[in-house]
Amino acid sequence: MLARARWKHGLTLPSLTTFPALARQLADIGRHCYERGWALGTSGNFSAVVSKEPLTLAITTSSVDKGLLEPAHIVAIDEGRRVLHGSGTPSAEAALHLAIVRSRGAGAVLHTHSVWSTILSEATTDGSLTIEGYEMLKGLEGVRSHEHRERLPIVENTQNWAAAAPQIEAMLREHPEAHGFLIRGHGLYTWGKDLAEAKRQIEILEFLFEVMGRKRGVAWQQ
Ligand SMILES: [Zn+2]
Repeated sequence: MLARARWKHGLTLPSLTTFPALARQLADIGRHCYERGWALGTSGNFSAVVSKEPLTLAITTSSVDKGLLEPAHIVAIDEGRRVLHGSGTPSAEAALHLAIVRSRGAGAVLHTHSVWSTILSEATTDGSLTIEGYEMLKGLEGVRSHEHRERLPIVENTQNWAAAAPQIEAMLREHPEAHGFLIRGHGLYTWGKDLAEAKRQIEILEFLFEVMGRKRGVAWQQ
């Protein structure tokens, strides 16, 4: 690991030695999500923690086609969403990624705009989506039985996530058992202690959404 550098104006910079590898992994996962139809066009965004202290996040830049995602499309940002490494504008939802990392201690955050997560985000009116009884639930971290009851909170969409991030952080602290949440008419957020765990969870949740959606049709109601 490189020693931490000190900028002339006194800021301590995090070591970015793990950044190139994380950028490659994020690009691979982004293209995988595109290929699965979960992040078409420029939709979706993906991040991984480079350093916890000070908090530094590798995250996709905005307006990049996820089917063409390359490591050069990933930047490292600090907790104030300032770019420390790389070029481009961090995703507009970077504030949400930082809120999840802070409230969950997550090492990686993945966000998709799939057909099924969009449909199911509008299928209930009680503020959450409940999934239970499926063997695939055991793919979620810490779940040991198909009898597990997964309750995913559903939050309203906004175009100002910087302003909404404190409410999201509070919601996540209120629901410590949730493995993800949905944004109404928008998509899914999930996370993990690292990218491998987050990738597994997004695959499990997207599978379960498709099962529920196909089983009950688009008029699905809880
Ligand atoms: Zn989004």
